[in-house]
Amino acid sequence: MKNLGFPSKRAPVYQDIPDEKWNDWRWQLSHRLNTVEEFEKVFKLTPSERKALQSDHLFRVDITPYYASLIDPEDENDPIRRQVVPTAAEIVPFTGMMEDSLAEDMHSPVPGLVHRYPDRVLMLVTTQCASYCRYCTRGRIVGDPSATFSRDEFEQQIAYLKATPQVRDVLLSGGDPLVLAPKLLEELLTRLREIPHIEIIRIGSRVPVFMPMRITDELTNMLKKFHPLWLNIHVNHPNEISAELAEACDKLSSAGIPLGNQSVLLNGINDCVNIQKKLVQSLVKIRVRPYYLYQCDLVEGAGHFRTPVAKGIEIIEGLRGHTSGFAVPTFVVDAPGGGGKIPVMPNYMISASDHKVVLRNYEGFITTYEEPTSYEAHDPKKCAFCQAKAVEPGQSGVLGLLEGERMSIKPEGFDHTHIRGGKQHRLRENVNKWKPLGIGDGEEKSEGD
Ligand code: SF4
Repeated sequence: MKNLGFPSKRAPVYQDIPDEKWNDWRWQLSHRLNTVEEFEKVFKLTPSERKALQSDHLFRVDITPYYASLIDPEDENDPIRRQVVPTAAEIVPFTGMMEDSLAEDMHSPVPGLVHRYPDRVLMLVTTQCASYCRYCTRGRIVGDPSATFSRDEFEQQIAYLKATPQVRDVLLSGGDPLVLAPKLLEELLTRLREIPHIEIIRIGSRVPVFMPMRITDELTNMLKKFHPLWLNIHVNHPNEISAELAEACDKLSSAGIPLGNQSVLLNGINDCVNIQKKLVQSLVKIRVRPYYLYQCDLVEGAGHFRTPVAKGIEIIEGLRGHTSGFAVPTFVVDAPGGGGKIPVMPNYMISASDHKVVLRNYEGFITTYEEPTSYEAHDPKKCAFCQAKAVEPGQSGVLGLLEGERMSIKPEGFDHTHIRGGKQHRLRENVNKWKPLGIGDGEEKSEGD
């Protein structure tokens, strides 16, 4: 692999560790830092960090020696340090804070399997990670060995997937699937591949960032038996991109695994257009496609990491057009309460008439696009793909409105509110008067249908 110029670091305290130990992921896992004394050997703790580390009920702390070595010991606001070393701010509650802000457990038909979207599921396979991010969305279970999923729950997950043919895409997450024992991970992938309707397997992992030595030839040779397999890593700041991460990504890409990156917008860490630009440009150099930039969730412990949503819009404004299009992630707010990911971006359409739209580009150049004066609409009845489309029971949403499945979507309690407590009377008897001709199946639908 070409030398891309990314640094390789090892904190002074680890200089005498033999390479074969340093490059062994099991050594990295068993020498993680988690006490005041261990941290003090690498950098001096601030009073706030010391207070947090000594408090009860703290979200688990563990940092691999490799990742700790990326921290500048002289900078208490180092962006890597801030991601993994707790401060007292973490213990401060805030308005809107929730234990399970994405309502994942509510959307779990069996423990650890989140079925939120029509054709794909999130499968939580472990609660363990190589290091622990202070803003973790799944802090309610992550890091807690007693919350880990049992064999029986795993069998329930597999049984649900076998019985649910609409699922074509399974995302393995947790915790971090790549900290699982190699044999267990292989068994899991084998069991998923035995289910004929599962087309895609995805893995979400921060292991290449926290412990790139885990990406061994043995691992990539095993993973490539399960194609099509995709992998998303999680890098938030350009300082996390090291020579070791570049090599790990090269191994994964060379095994035919497409790589994406999911990052979280974090106050004081990466809430800057220029940091984000450097991040996405460095990622594409190591063949990782920036995929999502997440608004920080309303999760316990993460209050001080949050930024206004407008900051994300500003960052996308600073990336789109200013750098390669495929380096621009989609900025999303993962809807509190379980609505899924909602993309948010600057507005590029300024106005429209019946024959043209007015658009602006990243430079402020304003132009018009002349609309076709005659357009023969696509006819779903003559389209084999429309005829064979997968149904999305109860989840067709706005697309369902566009496709004429129904006329409207009503907020909860809409019908009840608008009856105004009135009784049934002669003008309400003929319900056919509210059935739109040619839309839907002619049946009036209530909310939740
Ligand atoms: S690696 Fe992912 S699951 Fe693990 S602590 Fe970080 S954000 Fe949470």
